Amino acid sequence: MSVAETDLDERPRDFIRDIVRSDLATGRVEAVVTRFPPEPNGYLHIGHAKSICLNFGVGRDFGGRCHMRFDDTNPTREEHEYIDAIQRDVRWLGFDWGEHLYFASDHFECLYEWARHLIRGGDAYVDDLSADEIRERRGTLTEPGADSPWRDRPADESLDLFARMRAGEFPDGARVLRARIDMASGNINMRDPVLYRIRHAEHPRTGADWCIYPTYDFAHGQSDAVEGVTHSLCTLEFEDHRPLYDWLIERLPTPCVPRQYEFARLNLTYTVMSKRALIRLVQEGHVAGWDDPRMPTLCGMRRRGVPPEAVRDFIGRIGVAKAGNLVDVAMLEHCIRDRLNKRAPRRMGVLDPLKVVIENYPAGEEEALEAVNNPEDREAGVRAVPFGREIFIERDDFMEEPPRKFFRLAPGREVRLRYAYFVTCTGVVRDASGEVVELRCRYDPETRGGNAPDGRKVKGTLHWVSAARAAPAEVRLYDRLFGKPDMSARGDFIADLNPDSVTVLRDCRVEPEARNTAEGAVVQFERQGYFCVDPDTTKDNLVFNRTIGLRDTWAKIRRAEGRRARGGNGP
Ligand code: ATP
Ligand code: MG
Repeated sequence: MSVAETDLDERPRDFIRDIVRSDLATGRVEAVVTRFPPEPNGYLHIGHAKSICLNFGVGRDFGGRCHMRFDDTNPTREEHEYIDAIQRDVRWLGFDWGEHLYFASDHFECLYEWARHLIRGGDAYVDDLSADEIRERRGTLTEPGADSPWRDRPADESLDLFARMRAGEFPDGARVLRARIDMASGNINMRDPVLYRIRHAEHPRTGADWCIYPTYDFAHGQSDAVEGVTHSLCTLEFEDHRPLYDWLIERLPTPCVPRQYEFARLNLTYTVMSKRALIRLVQEGHVAGWDDPRMPTLCGMRRRGVPPEAVRDFIGRIGVAKAGNLVDVAMLEHCIRDRLNKRAPRRMGVLDPLKVVIENYPAGEEEALEAVNNPEDREAGVRAVPFGREIFIERDDFMEEPPRKFFRLAPGREVRLRYAYFVTCTGVVRDASGEVVELRCRYDPETRGGNAPDGRKVKGTLHWVSAARAAPAEVRLYDRLFGKPDMSARGDFIADLNPDSVTVLRDCRVEPEARNTAEGAVVQFERQGYFCVDPDTTKDNLVFNRTIGLRDTWAKIRRAEGRRARGGNGP
């Protein structure tokens, strides 16, 4: 699918795009090159979507390009599964990197040479201290660190030891390569940061070729430089790493000078987003997997039926800034509804069926009624829905003793069956325990299509399905995974899991046409919400996920805010 046809075509403005615009105008860069640089140690989540839309969006908006780069410098936590899943998810979101797929590990040989370049220039040294000893000497925010006794080791000695580190002569942790900067720097990242560590581990791509691996700081900016990245966009936690980023680029014979810019991470209410937390949810079995429809992962959202356009729309609306923010998940939900409302075909499905026998409808007869597929989209056309003597309606659309304002079915009351007829409830049938198991109704044959020729009105319109022709289905309803709005505070997020985040209904009935819904496609079950066909579906068991209900809390919040702003009757 091409992104050009979508909302993203309107070029947004933000401080990053302003920088790019000015760099192009002044000629600092000729063509913009960005990259999306995930570490392949988990699945992508909605927070990553912000980075993806920004990086690929900037590349596209300014006629440049965006690379897909895996930051695979930590062999012990990375897996092929993640590398494949990440690519699938970025494509799903609507972006493509053409031939520009890179791995930091592609650059290992170059990074090694650049490390030797630093050593030769007196800018790096092999340190024999252990990780603990290095930590102890690092100092604090208020106190300077202490020089390592190996700091002034001659370059030749460091070069020799570095080669032997690579050759596998030393065990893990025996030595590291450090930049030689300033142990008294106010920025702890500049206190002789580690550039290489020994790790005898199989790497998913380079296998056993290497037993020394560069750190993030010595891989990221260097990969940017090798690939010709002009604007290296990352989240704010890397702001303090920027001086080191620049220090290294300045000293290395790089083919270009990339610059790093930071923006705020996306945080969402009722949502945890760090991969570490998501891995825990999966490993401890709190969810069914990475693609559990309750997960904020892109694959979870896809399985839930969220259209990628809705995610892009949402990311476009929240914008890009430096100030940290916690975005109301209702805004994302609004974008999902907005998109689905325009696209999802309407169907009828009954989640909690109650049988209705229409006593004056001839037994054994059936007729096809015409139903509109999507009132928002005339071109979606109409379909035929079978109607007969026995139908199902929603159990909670009937009350024996209705309170005021309950306008649905009740004894003696007339309502409209959507696209069908007016019916009046004439009796109830109970089982031995007294529970209502069936309703008896009469219909008015003059009201075919749902309107009375004499102009009489009814207050309620119900959805329904033909008992003879409806398909049985399982429906999974989802609620928020967490019960607390602000999940950003550290602590045991497991305690905040919502115990009722999923409800499985196994005895639902859907109109025959709903059976033709493709896996992953979304329909609206009228009055119930949006539902997509889950991949768990088999020949004998049709499974729907509720993507989202119909009620739009975000629109309500905005309306209330609007009223308040106009000095209206807000609280
Ligand atoms: P997490 O903290 O969830 O483990 P990460 O930052 O370790 O994420 P990476 O794989 O390193 O994950 O991220 C790839 C890119 O996505 C990085 O540039 C990172 O800054 C960006 N990113 C990650 N989380 C968010 C977020 N919540 N909002 C915006 N960008 C994000
Ligand atoms: Mg990371």
